[in-house]
Amino acid sequence: MKEKEVEKSLNTSIEQGLTTKEVELRRNKFGWNELSEGEKQSAILLFFSQFKDFMVLVLLGATLISGLLGEYIDAIAIMAIVLINGILGFIQERKAEKSLDALKNLSAPQVNVLRNGTWIKINSREVVPGDVIKFSSGDRLGADIRLIQVNNLEIEESALTGESIPAVKNTNIIHEKSPNLGDMNNMGFMGTMVTRGNGVGIVTGIGMSTAMGKIADMIQSATAMITPLQRRLQQLGKILITVALLLTLLVVVVGIIHGHDAYTMFLAGVSLAVAAIPEGLPAIVTVALSLGVQRMIKKNAIVRKLPAVETLGCASVICSDKTGTMTQNKMTVTHLWSGGKTWFVKAEEDPDGKLFFDRELPVDPNEEKSVQQLLTFGVLCNHTELVFKGDSYSIDGDPTEGALLFAALKAGIQRNTLLEQFEIEKEYPFDSTRKMMSVIVKDANGKRFAITKGAPDVLVEKCESILWDGKQRLMNKDLNTSVMNAVNDLAAQALRTIAIAMKPIHSGVLPEKESDVEKDLTFIGLQGMIDPPRPEVKAAVEECKIAGIKTVMITGDHKATACAIAEQLGILDNREQVMDGQRLNELTVEELENEVENISVFARVTPEHKLKIVKALQNRGHVVAMTGDGINDAPAIKTADIGIAMGITGTDVAKEASSLVLLDDNFATIKAAIKEGRNIYENIRKFIRYLLASNVGEILVMLFAMLLSLPLPLVPIQILWVNLVTDGLPAMALGLDQPEENVMRRKPRHIKEGVFARGLGWKIVSRGFLIGISTLIAFMVVYYKDPNNLEYAQTIAFATLVLAQLIHVFDCRSEISVFSRNPFGNKYLVWAVISSAALMVAVIYVPFLQPVFHTLPIALNDWLLIVGMSALPTFLLAGSFILRKKQ
Ligand code: ATP
Repeated sequence: MKEKEVEKSLNTSIEQGLTTKEVELRRNKFGWNELSEGEKQSAILLFFSQFKDFMVLVLLGATLISGLLGEYIDAIAIMAIVLINGILGFIQERKAEKSLDALKNLSAPQVNVLRNGTWIKINSREVVPGDVIKFSSGDRLGADIRLIQVNNLEIEESALTGESIPAVKNTNIIHEKSPNLGDMNNMGFMGTMVTRGNGVGIVTGIGMSTAMGKIADMIQSATAMITPLQRRLQQLGKILITVALLLTLLVVVVGIIHGHDAYTMFLAGVSLAVAAIPEGLPAIVTVALSLGVQRMIKKNAIVRKLPAVETLGCASVICSDKTGTMTQNKMTVTHLWSGGKTWFVKAEEDPDGKLFFDRELPVDPNEEKSVQQLLTFGVLCNHTELVFKGDSYSIDGDPTEGALLFAALKAGIQRNTLLEQFEIEKEYPFDSTRKMMSVIVKDANGKRFAITKGAPDVLVEKCESILWDGKQRLMNKDLNTSVMNAVNDLAAQALRTIAIAMKPIHSGVLPEKESDVEKDLTFIGLQGMIDPPRPEVKAAVEECKIAGIKTVMITGDHKATACAIAEQLGILDNREQVMDGQRLNELTVEELENEVENISVFARVTPEHKLKIVKALQNRGHVVAMTGDGINDAPAIKTADIGIAMGITGTDVAKEASSLVLLDDNFATIKAAIKEGRNIYENIRKFIRYLLASNVGEILVMLFAMLLSLPLPLVPIQILWVNLVTDGLPAMALGLDQPEENVMRRKPRHIKEGVFARGLGWKIVSRGFLIGISTLIAFMVVYYKDPNNLEYAQTIAFATLVLAQLIHVFDCRSEISVFSRNPFGNKYLVWAVISSAALMVAVIYVPFLQPVFHTLPIALNDWLLIVGMSALPTFLLAGSFILRKKQ
């Protein structure tokens, strides 16, 4: 079918696209553009999986037996607690799962579609048959399409055809009756990747009716990835379970030896095991990670791969693109140069047609032929459009090209008017390796010529002549030097430079390869544009420096432009720290390793160089974050420890390779994400410290009591209650803690650092020991006062243990000391502690709960003992910290 027939049969318009109403009708008819996913674990299954833990099953079994033996209240209460625990676990896991799902949606691919006559970006899920979509190199196609316009288009279709060499596409009619997918050159298929060029197509199939949908089982479903810490915790979990079980067994055996009844000891032991085994830890870690990820989204960073959250905290080098990430990507042409003369363009956006050349004196570009040509060619060799919206123009496409359009507009040169006189017959799209773009144009008289624009130092090498004083002169060494001096001069003022050249085309056949066009050219001139740094980047670079993270600028731009911007941003201390693409070509990765530590700016690089830089830095032991946007950046992004893609300008390929996407393309967001990454890890350490120290305390109080031949300081239901009340909310609240002030003043964490590094293990054991001892002392004091009133002494032990943990939780907020920051700064934690304390008080004072929990109301003066004993460890540690500091 011809393009027009396709347009007609799908009842759409190539010029206008579909209308909103038509889209809705089609959505109702064809549904959303998505592939049906496999079955998910149902909520009920997830709920029951909370109880499949071995010790929980033993506890349930034991409870059942005690129920049958007549201990109804105990049995029901224990069951209720196990149930509540299960519900909490279920809610946590659901939350974790939901936020991971939300992440998937956020990183869903976008499609450029023509609707109601304007190009807009939508989620690929919203595409309907008949939509007109455009795409370019680096995009993954969101639907099956019939191509209606192509420019050097190549698509890699290996997912469908197995063919890894990209297919060259065209818009020709296919005469074959039932061609193979691989032969359908006028079609593009969902899920395949545009590797070169650009094009426009009409959507012919969506969702399950696409070629990809027909082989949907081949599609890899996103696998849930676990982070290194989660993996370490999984391994550690097994050790912790064994230790907890052994210690519990010891408690039971010692208890029995000292004359306790075996059945009581068994139930106490099982309860202790359930309480002491940190089975909830992995779920809380996931929740903390995903809550952190949510916070990152608020700061414009989307984590695509969960492990990155942790790795972020270890980053020691950030390699960042300059354009758009460190700068605003708002380019404005300020200088024009041709034939040895410079003109100035006012930076204001005033496209009125008035002319603003020269610093003071207006100049008429119509009188300056070279200026007129420079501007006109910049408009014709251009793939971007200016869209008039409201009362101003906006750029649809590449900002560099947009700047050229704007400059021309200021001189009254409009792309639409030009396109009435000139036909663009072929386009050779820009790519950052070649650093050039070309078009072949036919004028009204049928004369053909090529226009090339690109990086001046590259383009000048392709020129055999130059326009000088209105005449064409053969390029020689002097003229070449004049051009390069002009380039250096502009670049030293932090301007990005674009050179423009042309040549007539005499042959009737259009060259296929760009290398046939981009040679023997005539140099026309230069346009220099400013792209101011983002205001927040300088402070972010400084903050990274203090945090032990080096910032490296990587740019395709000229060395002098890069240096000027890097100096403004505080990245460059001296000009020795710069290396360009040419030098990078000469060095092997091993050789680069010796120099890489001293380099802060890499200029005129191609995307391929980025991989070399990442590898050299990694070999030096660095944890590297690397940004990128283009299709060729993907290998470097993938290899980096943290691959970062741009959300606005990034291609699908770069995003897919990345583990972090910046929604605002902003360098400062990387810093914010690193800070959050460090904080998340520290928060996880905080609750590991809290939970494990609490568990150690619980086990030790029982063990010491048994060793001292004392009665049980806590009954099983109390043990379970302590576990429920203190483990749940306070631990979660620690996961929401704000970063400590010094979080960005420390060196990056070592990537191989163990869970218990930096003294955490000692903190857990020593603190657990103190909690156990102080609970035991409180118990003994009251017990020896009145040995007949065991239940009262047990209530005291219960209250001391709960309170000691609730006070300890504030200690956990800081690596240094509880008083090194406002202890009540985390309002979630304050509320969690207040509600846990209220639950404890309820169990002690509400009459109908007392028989259930074997408690008695505590006399007011005994609270002095309880508060004193439970706060003692905190004050001891804070005191020893102050003493150490004084020394
Ligand atoms: P950074 O790496 O800092 O983001 P960049 O990605 O913009 O920089 P490139 O896109 O590789 O770098 O551009 C390198 C050079 O190519 C620019 O300095 C400019 O001279 C030239 N250039 C950029 N865009 C175009 C374009 N659309 N057409 C022709 N030449 C271009």
